[in-house]
Amino acid sequence: MFDFDLAVLGGGPGGYVAAIRAAQLGQKVCIIEKDKLGGICLNWGCIPTKALLKNAEVYQTVKKADLYGINIKSISVNFKKNVDRSRSVAKQLSKGVEFLMKKNSITHFTGFGKLESENNINIIQKSINKRISAKNIIIATGAKPKAFQNIKIDGKYIIGSKEALNLVEIPKKIIIVGSGAIGCEFAFYFNSFGAEVEIIEMQKTILPMEDSEISAALKDSFISSGIKIHNNSKVQSIDKLKTKIKVNIVTENGNLQIDGNIALLAIGIEGNTNNIGLNGVGIKSENGSISINSHCQTNISNIYAIGDVAGPPWLAHKASAQGHMVADLIGGKSVHEIDYFNIPNCTYCQPQVGSLGLTESKAKDLGHNIKVGKFFFRASGKAMAVGNTFGFVKLIFDDQYGELIGAHIIGDGATEMIAELNMAKALESTWEDLAMTMHAHPTLSEAVMEAAMDAFGSAIHQ
Ligand SMILES: Cc1cc2nc3c(=O)[nH]c(=O)nc-3n(C[C@H](O)[C@H](O)[C@H](O)COP(=O)(O)OP(=O)(O)OC[C@H]3O[C@@H](n4cnc5c(N)ncnc54)[C@H](O)[C@@H]3O)c2cc1C
Repeated sequence: MFDFDLAVLGGGPGGYVAAIRAAQLGQKVCIIEKDKLGGICLNWGCIPTKALLKNAEVYQTVKKADLYGINIKSISVNFKKNVDRSRSVAKQLSKGVEFLMKKNSITHFTGFGKLESENNINIIQKSINKRISAKNIIIATGAKPKAFQNIKIDGKYIIGSKEALNLVEIPKKIIIVGSGAIGCEFAFYFNSFGAEVEIIEMQKTILPMEDSEISAALKDSFISSGIKIHNNSKVQSIDKLKTKIKVNIVTENGNLQIDGNIALLAIGIEGNTNNIGLNGVGIKSENGSISINSHCQTNISNIYAIGDVAGPPWLAHKASAQGHMVADLIGGKSVHEIDYFNIPNCTYCQPQVGSLGLTESKAKDLGHNIKVGKFFFRASGKAMAVGNTFGFVKLIFDDQYGELIGAHIIGDGATEMIAELNMAKALESTWEDLAMTMHAHPTLSEAVMEAAMDAFGSAIHQ
């Protein structure tokens, strides 16, 4: 007899969703977490960053209160309080997950778990070791930030996202290396609170995974906010001096040295695959990610891997969707396979970015005959009313049946608006479905309807 039907290693969004769903299906479940429940997402990722970004947005709005007819005589920032609010939201949510574990009768072990065999995990809790057995195991150990071989995070002058979330003083100048979602979010955040920000990105655009028009628009917006951007530039080394740093970069035009107070490394992540017993059990991994099939099963049939440790995209909603699917599978339910072509990507700086499916260039590379529709928020009544007209919706349809194959939004509310297109793509909707579905007026979402109309030549408002 096994101690548990299912043991989940890691209590992030992948792990805790899998645990709850399996418990709902009547499985006897345990979850092993070495730190706080909720994982990176709730404690050091998605949620605390969004709290900080909201603080930054509020500050930006207050600064332009005059536009809305409101006079504010003097504004000052309590930067520590801004960080405290973010930490308290994270704490509240982690407690919430703890409550859900109890509610669903899931046994919660605090400790570092290591696979000992196909059915056994050794849990190291302080100095005590505990061995549990389970019929099925889900590995959901997440990922850690990548570092350069010659540049180590020291937590003071060279920091990662965790330290950036906890900085209680606004740095005079911060150099952000890498301009994916995390780099761009922190660029907006620090710049909003008055730090001088310089971004170094080795690709030719910022947010390099996005449609090039979206990346270009974000770059324009950042530059007009005073953020400096070096594309096609590689960091070679960072010199630490007494009170500042010097970042040595190689650009298209030669070598450059940039001074700053802090460098934030946001150059990607790699799976937490070390010391968890993969080799001993014979679980295959590649480039720092556990290898899985379409059901997240590893090469050992009763062991599954989900979330960041199982490779890209490194997103919380992908981790929890995989957790849900695997729990259903183990619980004997028929499962919805994950549609990896319909995963939303969101960046929560201002302007926000939300996207899914194919970019225009990818669609062309894949041989699609496409129709592209766009609608700019400058022509949206709602955008004008709320006082933020930056950005646009760009939709890509396959010409043959008019099916939606890509959606890209930049502007206020983009990360909420993308959900409609997510559903539309899941239902294989066409431009007509989007164009003929009545959208409430006035809403920013009308831009989606107008962009769909534009693709086939029937936009009304532009
Ligand atoms: C700054 C930042 C911002 C982000 N913003 C977003 C966002 O807005 N939207 C989004 O979708 N994604 C975002 N992400 C990514 C998101 O956090 C991850 O994709 C998500 O947390 C992955 O979930 P997971 O369950 O795979 O792993 P994690 O959340 O990393 O959880 C893994 C857990 O396993 C535990 N663990 C590891 N090894 C062991 C072990 N051997 N024994 C016991 N426990 C172990 C860890 O302590 C951790 O709690 C962000 C990430 C960062 C760093």
